[in-house]
Amino acid sequence: MSAFSHFRVQPGKRLRLADISPQKTKGFDGDKEQGRDRVQQLNNRLEELQEQLYAQGKHRLLVVLQAMDAGGKDGTIRSVFDGVNPQGVKVASFKAPTAKELAHDFLWRIHPHAPAAGEIAIWNRSHYEDVLVARVHDLCNETCWRARYEHIVAFENLLAGEGTTILKFFLHISKDEQRQRLQERIDDPKKRWKWSSRDLDERARWDDYQQAYEDALSATSTDRAPWYVVPADRNWFRDLVVSEVLVEALAALDLRLPPGDPGIEGLQVT
Ligand code: ATP
Ligand code: MG
Repeated sequence: MSAFSHFRVQPGKRLRLADISPQKTKGFDGDKEQGRDRVQQLNNRLEELQEQLYAQGKHRLLVVLQAMDAGGKDGTIRSVFDGVNPQGVKVASFKAPTAKELAHDFLWRIHPHAPAAGEIAIWNRSHYEDVLVARVHDLCNETCWRARYEHIVAFENLLAGEGTTILKFFLHISKDEQRQRLQERIDDPKKRWKWSSRDLDERARWDDYQQAYEDALSATSTDRAPWYVVPADRNWFRDLVVSEVLVEALAALDLRLPPGDPGIEGLQVT
C-alpha cells in the first residue's frame, strides 16, 4: 500500500474537495525540513529510475498536472524533476487553443505529446482544460463535457493499454493561498511575468472551478489512470507527495539497465 494512497481518488467514488484540507500533511510525520530531505532522497532515486527507463526504452510515463491558477504546477516540475536528465523528459504546457487546434477535436493537439518508449512526458495543464475552463466559460455545454469525460477515459485507456503508466495530480490549494500567491505576482517585480489580467476573472469563478474539478476527477479517476488530490498550500508537502507517488510507480515497473552485448565482458578497446 502506498504512503499516500489516501489521496488517490477512488474510481467510481464521488470526490468532495471541501473534505480535503489543502494544508493537510497526512501520511508524513516529519516537519518541513525532514520533508525537504525526503524529497531530496526521492529526487536521487527518480534520477536513477529515469535513467533505467530511458536506457531500457520499453516503458512510458505520463504525468498530468492540473491546478487552479498559482496552484504550483511550475514549482512542482522544477523541484520534483530537479537534476533529472532532460533527455528523455518532455514538458508540454497547454495554453488556450489556437484557431487551428479549435477546428479539430479536443484531443487532436494532445496526443502528439504522449510519451514515447523510454520517455517521461509531463503535461502542464492538459486535455482536462476542455472539461474545466471550457465548462466554466460555457465553451462546451453539459452534453458536450459529459461526453468528453467518456472520450477522456477511452483515450487514457488507449494510452495505458499500449504501455503507458499514467499518473494525474490535482494540486489542491485554498482560496486564501491563491490570493496570497496572486498578490505576490503583483508585488514582487520578479514574479510579475507570471501575472495575467485574466487571473482575477478566473478567481471570481472559484466555486464553479471547484465544482468542475470535483465532477471531472470523480468521472475520470480509473485504476489505469488515477487522480491524486495533493494538498498543495505547503510546497514541500506537495513536492513530497508527487515525488513519492512517481517513485513508487516507477519502482513497480521492474526497470533495469540493458545488459549490453553478449561477449562485451573483458573486451579491450585498442
Ligand atoms: P499559472 O498556474 O502559473 O498561472 P498557467 O498554466 O495558468 O500558469 P498561463 O499562461 O497563465 O499558464 O495560462 C494558460 C491558460 O490557458 C489558462 O488560463 C488555461 O485555462 C488556458 N487553457 C489551456 N487549455 C485550454 C483549453 N483547452 N481551452 C481554453 N483555455 C485553455
Ligand atoms: Mg495562469
